[in-house]
Amino acid sequence: MPLAAQSRGARIQVRTRCIDAVRVSGLWHITLQDLATGRIHHCRARALVNAAGPWAQRFIEQNLQAQSPRRIKLIKGSHFVTPKLYEGEQAYILQNEDQRIVFVIPYNGDFTLVGTTDKAYDGDPSKVEMDGEEEQYLLNVVNQHFKRQIGSDDILWRYSGVRPLCDDESDSPSAMTRDYTLETQADENGKAPLLSVFGGKITTYRRLAEAALLALKPHFPTLGSPWTRTATLPGGDIGEQTFTQWLQALQQQYAWLPQPLLQRLANAYGTRVHELLQGCSGVDDLGTDFGAGLTQREVEFLLREEWARSADDILWRRSKLGLYFNAGQRAQLDSFVQTRLSDAIPAAHVAPAPSTTSAKEPLRRAC
Ligand SMILES: Cc1cc2nc3c(=O)[nH]c(=O)nc-3n(C[C@H](O)[C@H](O)[C@H](O)COP(=O)(O)OP(=O)(O)OC[C@H]3O[C@@H](n4cnc5c(N)ncnc54)[C@H](O)[C@@H]3O)c2cc1C
Repeated sequence: MPLAAQSRGARIQVRTRCIDAVRVSGLWHITLQDLATGRIHHCRARALVNAAGPWAQRFIEQNLQAQSPRRIKLIKGSHFVTPKLYEGEQAYILQNEDQRIVFVIPYNGDFTLVGTTDKAYDGDPSKVEMDGEEEQYLLNVVNQHFKRQIGSDDILWRYSGVRPLCDDESDSPSAMTRDYTLETQADENGKAPLLSVFGGKITTYRRLAEAALLALKPHFPTLGSPWTRTATLPGGDIGEQTFTQWLQALQQQYAWLPQPLLQRLANAYGTRVHELLQGCSGVDDLGTDFGAGLTQREVEFLLREEWARSADDILWRRSKLGLYFNAGQRAQLDSFVQTRLSDAIPAAHVAPAPSTTSAKEPLRRAC
Protein backbone atom coordinates (compact mmCIF):
# COMPACT_ATOMS: atom_id res chain seq x y z
CA MET A 1 0.00 0.00 0.00
CA PRO A 2 2.80 2.49 0.70
CA LEU A 3 4.12 1.58 -2.77
CA ALA A 4 0.77 2.49 -4.31
CA ALA A 5 0.62 5.73 -2.35
CA GLN A 6 4.17 6.60 -3.36
CA SER A 7 3.46 5.97 -7.03
CA ARG A 8 0.70 8.62 -6.72
CA GLY A 9 2.94 11.21 -5.13
CA ALA A 10 2.98 10.35 -1.42
CA ARG A 11 6.27 10.78 0.38
CA ILE A 12 6.94 7.75 2.61
CA GLN A 13 9.21 8.28 5.61
CA VAL A 14 9.87 5.07 7.51
CA ARG A 15 11.32 5.04 11.03
CA THR A 16 10.14 8.59 11.49
CA ARG A 17 8.08 9.66 14.49
CA CYS A 18 5.67 12.57 14.67
CA ILE A 19 6.74 14.07 17.97
CA ASP A 20 4.70 17.24 17.95
CA ALA A 21 1.95 18.95 15.93
CA VAL A 22 0.21 22.26 16.62
CA ARG A 23 -2.45 24.23 14.76
CA VAL A 24 -1.35 27.67 13.58
CA SER A 25 -3.74 29.88 11.56
CA GLY A 26 -5.63 26.92 10.11
CA LEU A 27 -2.57 24.81 9.30
CA TRP A 28 -0.84 21.96 11.12
CA HIS A 29 2.81 22.66 11.94
CA ILE A 30 4.29 19.20 12.34
CA THR A 31 7.59 18.08 13.84
CA LEU A 32 9.02 14.72 12.77
CA GLN A 33 12.06 12.90 14.06
CA ASP A 34 14.13 10.45 12.01
CA LEU A 35 14.70 7.67 14.53
CA ALA A 36 17.89 6.45 12.85
CA THR A 37 19.75 9.77 12.86
CA GLY A 38 17.82 11.79 15.43
CA ARG A 39 17.37 14.58 12.88
CA ILE A 40 14.31 16.76 13.19
CA HIS A 41 12.15 17.67 10.17
CA HIS A 42 9.34 20.19 9.98
CA CYS A 43 6.42 20.29 7.61
CA ARG A 44 3.01 21.89 7.33
CA ALA A 45 -0.29 20.33 6.35
CA ARG A 46 -3.95 21.27 5.93
CA ALA A 47 -5.05 18.03 7.62
CA LEU A 48 -3.48 15.44 9.92
CA VAL A 49 -4.45 11.76 9.92
CA ASN A 50 -3.67 9.84 13.09
CA ALA A 51 -3.46 6.17 12.06
CA ALA A 52 -1.07 5.24 14.89
CA GLY A 53 -2.90 1.97 15.69
CA PRO A 54 -2.21 0.98 19.30
CA TRP A 55 -0.65 4.41 19.87
CA ALA A 56 -3.64 6.41 18.46
CA GLN A 57 -5.05 7.51 21.83
CA ARG A 58 -1.60 8.09 23.32
CA PHE A 59 -0.59 10.19 20.27
CA ILE A 60 -3.50 12.58 20.88
CA GLU A 61 -2.96 12.80 24.62
CA GLN A 62 0.84 12.93 24.74
CA ASN A 63 2.01 14.39 21.42
CA LEU A 64 -0.90 16.73 20.71
CA GLN A 65 -1.71 17.31 24.38
CA ALA A 66 -5.42 17.13 23.63
CA GLN A 67 -8.31 15.03 24.82
CA SER A 68 -8.93 11.84 22.87
CA PRO A 69 -12.53 11.50 21.63
CA ARG A 70 -12.31 7.70 22.07
CA ARG A 71 -10.61 5.29 24.39
CA ILE A 72 -8.94 2.19 23.05
CA LYS A 73 -8.26 -1.05 24.83
CA LEU A 74 -5.14 -2.97 23.91
CA ILE A 75 -5.80 -6.66 23.41
CA LYS A 76 -2.78 -8.89 22.89
CA GLY A 77 -2.93 -11.69 20.34
CA SER A 78 -0.15 -14.28 19.98
CA HIS A 79 0.65 -16.95 17.39
CA PHE A 80 3.23 -19.66 16.96
CA VAL A 81 4.62 -21.52 13.96
CA THR A 82 5.60 -25.22 13.95
CA PRO A 83 6.88 -27.54 11.22
CA LYS A 84 3.95 -28.68 9.06
CA LEU A 85 1.45 -30.56 11.31
CA TYR A 86 -0.55 -32.20 8.51
CA GLU A 87 -0.68 -32.69 4.74
CA GLY A 88 -3.15 -30.78 2.61
CA GLU A 89 -4.08 -27.17 1.96
CA GLN A 90 -7.02 -27.05 4.37
CA ALA A 91 -7.14 -24.78 7.42
CA TYR A 92 -8.97 -25.68 10.61
CA ILE A 93 -11.10 -23.58 12.94
CA LEU A 94 -10.98 -25.24 16.36
CA GLN A 95 -13.84 -24.46 18.70
CA ASN A 96 -12.56 -24.19 22.26
CA GLU A 97 -14.52 -24.73 25.49
CA ASP A 98 -14.17 -21.03 26.40
CA GLN A 99 -16.28 -20.24 23.27
CA ARG A 100 -13.24 -18.86 21.45
CA ILE A 101 -11.90 -20.26 18.20
CA VAL A 102 -8.29 -21.02 17.29
CA PHE A 103 -7.04 -21.14 13.69
CA VAL A 104 -4.59 -23.77 12.40
CA ILE A 105 -3.40 -22.73 8.96
CA PRO A 106 -0.86 -24.10 6.44
CA TYR A 107 1.97 -21.58 6.41
CA ASN A 108 4.63 -20.86 3.81
CA GLY A 109 4.49 -24.40 2.43
CA ASP A 110 6.61 -26.10 5.09
CA PHE A 111 4.95 -24.88 8.30
CA THR A 112 1.72 -24.60 10.29
CA LEU A 113 0.52 -21.38 11.94
CA VAL A 114 -1.52 -21.57 15.15
CA GLY A 115 -3.31 -18.59 16.69
CA THR A 116 -4.53 -16.58 18.28
CA THR A 117 -5.15 -15.44 21.84
CA ASP A 118 -7.12 -12.49 23.26
CA LYS A 119 -5.62 -11.00 26.39
CA ALA A 120 -5.96 -7.49 27.84
CA TYR A 121 -2.60 -5.70 27.70
CA ASP A 122 -1.40 -2.49 29.33
CA GLY A 123 2.32 -2.46 28.52
CA ASP A 124 4.31 -0.84 25.71
CA PRO A 125 2.83 -2.11 22.39
CA SER A 126 6.30 -2.30 20.84
CA LYS A 127 7.47 -4.74 23.54
CA VAL A 128 4.60 -7.22 23.33
CA GLU A 129 5.47 -10.92 23.33
CA MET A 130 3.78 -14.28 23.85
CA ASP A 131 3.72 -15.40 27.49
CA GLY A 132 3.80 -18.96 28.84
CA GLU A 133 0.08 -18.99 29.60
CA GLU A 134 -0.82 -18.11 25.99
CA GLU A 135 1.60 -20.70 24.61
CA GLN A 136 0.08 -23.42 26.82
CA TYR A 137 -3.45 -22.33 25.88
CA LEU A 138 -2.73 -22.72 22.14
CA LEU A 139 -0.85 -26.01 22.64
CA ASN A 140 -3.80 -27.39 24.65
CA VAL A 141 -6.36 -26.46 22.01
CA VAL A 142 -4.29 -28.08 19.24
CA ASN A 143 -3.66 -31.21 21.31
CA GLN A 144 -7.37 -31.56 22.12
CA HIS A 145 -8.19 -31.70 18.39
CA PHE A 146 -5.24 -33.37 16.61
CA LYS A 147 -3.95 -36.93 16.98
CA ARG A 148 -0.41 -35.66 16.71
CA GLN A 149 0.54 -34.07 20.05
CA ILE A 150 2.89 -31.05 20.13
CA GLY A 151 4.85 -29.24 22.83
CA SER A 152 7.05 -26.16 23.28
CA ASP A 153 9.95 -27.90 21.52
CA ASP A 154 7.94 -28.01 18.29
CA ILE A 155 7.60 -24.23 18.19
CA LEU A 156 9.96 -22.59 15.70
CA TRP A 157 8.76 -19.00 16.02
CA ARG A 158 6.38 -17.03 18.23
CA TYR A 159 4.96 -13.60 17.52
CA SER A 160 2.50 -11.24 19.15
CA GLY A 161 0.65 -8.09 18.28
CA VAL A 162 -1.69 -5.69 20.00
CA ARG A 163 -5.16 -5.01 18.67
CA PRO A 164 -6.20 -1.44 19.39
CA LEU A 165 -9.91 -2.05 19.91
CA CYS A 166 -12.40 0.73 20.43
CA ASP A 167 -13.40 0.48 24.10
CA ASP A 168 -17.07 -0.54 24.01
CA GLU A 169 -16.93 -1.55 27.69
CA SER A 170 -17.38 -5.25 26.93
CA ASP A 171 -16.17 -7.47 29.74
CA SER A 172 -14.58 -10.06 27.46
CA PRO A 173 -11.65 -9.16 25.14
CA SER A 174 -12.93 -11.53 22.44
CA ALA A 175 -16.39 -9.90 22.50
CA MET A 176 -15.10 -6.35 21.89
CA THR A 177 -15.96 -4.86 18.52
CA ARG A 178 -13.39 -5.24 15.71
CA ASP A 179 -15.02 -2.41 13.74
CA TYR A 180 -13.18 0.83 13.09
CA THR A 181 -14.30 4.24 14.27
CA LEU A 182 -13.22 7.50 12.65
CA GLU A 183 -13.25 10.77 14.58
CA THR A 184 -12.64 14.18 13.01
CA GLN A 185 -11.82 17.25 15.09
CA ALA A 186 -11.21 20.68 13.51
CA ASP A 187 -10.13 23.99 15.07
CA GLU A 188 -12.61 26.66 16.19
CA ASN A 189 -12.87 27.94 12.58
CA GLY A 190 -13.51 24.45 11.23
CA LYS A 191 -10.00 24.23 9.75
CA ALA A 192 -6.91 21.99 10.25
CA PRO A 193 -8.84 18.77 10.86
CA LEU A 194 -7.37 15.87 12.81
CA LEU A 195 -8.78 12.55 11.61
CA SER A 196 -8.13 9.70 14.05
CA VAL A 197 -8.61 6.02 13.30
CA PHE A 198 -9.58 3.81 16.24
CA GLY A 199 -9.65 0.03 15.80
CA GLY A 200 -10.14 -1.77 12.48
CA LYS A 201 -8.91 -4.75 10.44
CA ILE A 202 -6.60 -5.23 7.47
CA THR A 203 -9.48 -6.84 5.58
CA THR A 204 -11.46 -3.58 5.65
CA TYR A 205 -8.57 -1.25 4.82
CA ARG A 206 -9.98 -0.03 1.49
CA ARG A 207 -13.37 0.73 2.97
CA LEU A 208 -11.70 2.47 5.91
CA ALA A 209 -9.47 4.54 3.62
CA GLU A 210 -12.43 5.63 1.50
CA ALA A 211 -14.46 6.50 4.62
CA ALA A 212 -11.50 8.53 5.90
CA LEU A 213 -11.30 10.56 2.69
CA LEU A 214 -15.07 11.12 2.68
CA ALA A 215 -14.74 12.44 6.25
CA LEU A 216 -12.04 14.87 5.06
CA LYS A 217 -13.90 15.88 1.89
CA PRO A 218 -15.59 18.96 3.45
CA HIS A 219 -12.06 20.33 3.96
CA PHE A 220 -10.97 19.44 0.40
CA PRO A 221 -14.03 20.22 -1.75
CA THR A 222 -12.25 19.35 -5.00
CA LEU A 223 -11.70 15.73 -3.92
CA GLY A 224 -13.14 13.25 -6.39
CA SER A 225 -15.30 10.21 -5.69
CA PRO A 226 -14.02 6.92 -4.24
CA TRP A 227 -12.23 4.83 -6.90
CA THR A 228 -10.11 2.27 -5.06
CA ARG A 229 -12.74 -0.51 -4.85
CA THR A 230 -11.50 -2.19 -8.02
CA ALA A 231 -8.02 -0.66 -8.20
CA THR A 232 -4.98 -2.95 -8.52
CA LEU A 233 -2.11 -2.68 -6.09
CA PRO A 234 1.51 -2.57 -7.38
CA GLY A 235 2.47 -5.98 -8.77
CA GLY A 236 -1.15 -7.11 -9.18
CA ASP A 237 -1.58 -5.96 -12.79
CA ILE A 238 -1.75 -9.41 -14.44
CA GLY A 239 -4.70 -8.46 -16.62
CA GLU A 240 -7.57 -10.87 -17.25
CA GLN A 241 -5.55 -14.09 -16.82
CA THR A 242 -5.52 -16.14 -13.62
CA PHE A 243 -2.46 -16.15 -11.38
CA THR A 244 -1.67 -19.71 -12.50
CA GLN A 245 -1.76 -18.73 -16.19
CA TRP A 246 0.42 -15.72 -15.49
CA LEU A 247 2.88 -17.87 -13.50
CA GLN A 248 3.15 -20.41 -16.34
CA ALA A 249 4.12 -17.66 -18.78
CA LEU A 250 6.61 -16.33 -16.24
CA GLN A 251 8.19 -19.79 -15.88
CA GLN A 252 8.81 -19.87 -19.62
CA GLN A 253 10.27 -16.39 -19.61
CA TYR A 254 12.64 -17.14 -16.71
CA ALA A 255 13.32 -20.83 -17.40
CA TRP A 256 16.87 -20.37 -16.04
CA LEU A 257 15.57 -19.65 -12.51
CA PRO A 258 14.92 -22.56 -10.10
CA GLN A 259 11.11 -22.95 -10.18
CA PRO A 260 10.53 -22.82 -6.37
CA LEU A 261 12.45 -19.55 -6.24
CA LEU A 262 10.51 -18.07 -9.16
CA GLN A 263 7.24 -19.16 -7.53
CA ARG A 264 8.20 -17.41 -4.27
CA LEU A 265 9.27 -14.24 -6.08
CA ALA A 266 6.03 -14.29 -8.10
CA ASN A 267 3.95 -14.65 -4.92
CA ALA A 268 5.85 -11.90 -3.15
CA TYR A 269 6.23 -9.31 -5.90
CA GLY A 270 3.74 -10.12 -8.65
CA THR A 271 4.60 -8.28 -11.86
CA ARG A 272 7.26 -6.29 -10.00
CA VAL A 273 9.37 -9.45 -10.39
CA HIS A 274 10.38 -8.12 -13.84
CA GLU A 275 11.88 -5.06 -12.20
CA LEU A 276 13.69 -7.25 -9.64
CA LEU A 277 15.15 -9.52 -12.34
CA GLN A 278 15.84 -6.79 -14.89
CA GLY A 279 19.07 -7.45 -16.82
CA CYS A 280 19.57 -10.96 -15.34
CA SER A 281 19.95 -13.95 -17.64
CA GLY A 282 21.43 -16.55 -15.28
CA VAL A 283 21.60 -17.45 -11.60
CA ASP A 284 25.07 -15.90 -11.28
CA ASP A 285 23.59 -12.50 -12.06
CA LEU A 286 21.62 -12.68 -8.79
CA GLY A 287 24.82 -12.34 -6.71
CA THR A 288 25.41 -13.84 -3.26
CA ASP A 289 22.87 -16.36 -2.01
CA PHE A 290 22.36 -15.60 1.70
CA GLY A 291 20.29 -18.76 2.23
CA ALA A 292 16.86 -20.15 1.33
CA GLY A 293 17.09 -18.53 -2.11
CA LEU A 294 17.44 -14.98 -0.77
CA THR A 295 19.92 -13.41 -3.15
CA GLN A 296 21.84 -10.17 -3.23
CA ARG A 297 19.62 -9.01 -6.09
CA GLU A 298 16.46 -9.38 -3.97
CA VAL A 299 18.06 -7.82 -0.89
CA GLU A 300 19.14 -4.78 -2.89
CA PHE A 301 15.64 -4.52 -4.38
CA LEU A 302 14.14 -4.52 -0.87
CA LEU A 303 16.60 -1.89 0.35
CA ARG A 304 16.01 0.31 -2.68
CA GLU A 305 12.30 -0.14 -3.32
CA GLU A 306 10.68 -1.31 -0.08
CA TRP A 307 12.42 0.71 2.65
CA ALA A 308 14.11 -2.31 4.30
CA ARG A 309 16.66 -1.11 6.86
CA SER A 310 17.78 -4.28 8.63
CA ALA A 311 18.07 -8.05 8.24
CA ASP A 312 14.92 -8.39 10.36
CA ASP A 313 12.98 -6.15 7.97
CA ILE A 314 13.91 -8.56 5.17
CA LEU A 315 13.64 -11.88 7.02
CA TRP A 316 10.43 -11.17 8.99
CA ARG A 317 8.63 -8.02 7.81
CA ARG A 318 9.01 -8.28 4.00
CA SER A 319 9.18 -12.11 3.95
CA LYS A 320 9.14 -14.99 6.39
CA LEU A 321 12.50 -16.36 5.25
CA GLY A 322 13.69 -15.99 8.85
CA LEU A 323 12.08 -19.39 9.43
CA TYR A 324 14.89 -20.94 7.36
CA PHE A 325 17.85 -18.86 8.53
CA ASN A 326 20.36 -19.79 11.25
CA ALA A 327 22.24 -17.27 13.41
CA GLY A 328 25.33 -17.26 11.15
CA GLN A 329 23.28 -16.57 8.00
CA ARG A 330 21.38 -13.77 9.78
CA ALA A 331 24.64 -12.15 10.87
CA GLN A 332 26.04 -12.34 7.33
CA LEU A 333 22.89 -10.76 5.91
CA ASP A 334 22.85 -8.04 8.54
CA SER A 335 26.44 -7.16 7.87
CA PHE A 336 25.71 -6.92 4.12
CA VAL A 337 22.65 -4.76 4.77
CA GLN A 338 24.50 -2.37 7.06
CA THR A 339 27.36 -2.03 4.56
CA ARG A 340 24.95 -1.32 1.72
CA LEU A 341 23.04 1.22 3.80
CA SER A 342 26.23 3.04 4.67
CA ASP A 343 27.03 3.07 0.93
CA ALA A 344 23.59 4.77 0.65
CA ILE A 345 21.81 2.92 -2.12
CA PRO A 346 20.02 5.63 -4.05
CA ALA A 347 16.28 5.45 -3.44
CA ALA A 348 14.40 5.26 -6.72
CA HIS A 349 11.45 7.47 -5.96
CA VAL A 350 12.40 9.64 -3.04
CA ALA A 351 11.15 13.19 -3.31
CA PRO A 352 13.21 16.12 -1.96
CA ALA A 353 13.31 16.18 1.83
CA PRO A 354 11.40 18.81 3.79
CA SER A 355 13.37 21.36 5.79
CA THR A 356 15.59 19.76 8.43
CA THR A 357 17.30 20.92 11.59
CA SER A 358 19.70 19.17 13.93
CA ALA A 359 18.22 17.15 16.80
CA LYS A 360 20.15 19.41 19.16
CA GLU A 361 18.28 22.53 18.02
CA PRO A 362 15.24 23.34 20.14
CA LEU A 363 11.95 22.36 18.51
CA ARG A 364 10.22 25.23 16.79
CA ARG A 365 6.94 25.43 18.70
CA ALA A 366 4.69 27.42 16.42
CA CYS A 367 2.38 28.88 19.03
C1 LIG B 1 -3.02 -10.65 16.98
C2 LIG B 1 -3.70 -9.89 15.89
C3 LIG B 1 -4.44 -10.55 14.95
C4 LIG B 1 -5.07 -9.86 13.93
N1 LIG B 1 -5.78 -10.58 13.01
C5 LIG B 1 -6.36 -9.93 11.99
C6 LIG B 1 -7.05 -10.64 10.99
O1 LIG B 1 -7.14 -11.87 11.03
N2 LIG B 1 -7.63 -9.96 9.98
C7 LIG B 1 -7.52 -8.60 9.90
O2 LIG B 1 -8.04 -8.05 8.96
N3 LIG B 1 -6.87 -7.88 10.82
C8 LIG B 1 -6.29 -8.51 11.87
N4 LIG B 1 -5.61 -7.80 12.82
C9 LIG B 1 -5.66 -6.34 12.77
C10 LIG B 1 -4.65 -5.73 11.85
O3 LIG B 1 -3.36 -6.21 12.19
C11 LIG B 1 -4.72 -4.22 12.05
O4 LIG B 1 -5.99 -3.79 11.71
C12 LIG B 1 -3.74 -3.49 11.15
O5 LIG B 1 -2.42 -3.87 11.43
C13 LIG B 1 -3.88 -2.01 11.38
O6 LIG B 1 -2.96 -1.36 10.55
P1 LIG B 1 -2.61 0.14 10.81
O7 LIG B 1 -1.62 0.55 9.76
O8 LIG B 1 -3.84 0.96 10.96
O9 LIG B 1 -1.94 0.16 12.25
P2 LIG B 1 -0.56 -0.48 12.71
O10 LIG B 1 -0.15 -1.60 11.84
O11 LIG B 1 -0.70 -0.73 14.18
O12 LIG B 1 0.46 0.70 12.48
C14 LIG B 1 0.48 1.86 13.28
C15 LIG B 1 1.78 2.55 12.95
O13 LIG B 1 1.81 3.84 13.55
C16 LIG B 1 3.14 4.09 13.89
N5 LIG B 1 3.18 5.18 14.89
C17 LIG B 1 2.76 5.19 16.18
N6 LIG B 1 2.98 6.40 16.75
C18 LIG B 1 3.54 7.16 15.78
C19 LIG B 1 4.00 8.53 15.75
N7 LIG B 1 3.93 9.34 16.83
N8 LIG B 1 4.54 8.99 14.59
C20 LIG B 1 4.62 8.19 13.49
N9 LIG B 1 4.19 6.90 13.45
C21 LIG B 1 3.67 6.41 14.60
C22 LIG B 1 3.63 2.76 14.47
O14 LIG B 1 5.03 2.69 14.48
C23 LIG B 1 3.02 1.79 13.48
O15 LIG B 1 3.88 1.54 12.40
C24 LIG B 1 -4.96 -8.46 13.86
C25 LIG B 1 -4.18 -7.77 14.79
C26 LIG B 1 -3.55 -8.48 15.80
C27 LIG B 1 -2.70 -7.72 16.80
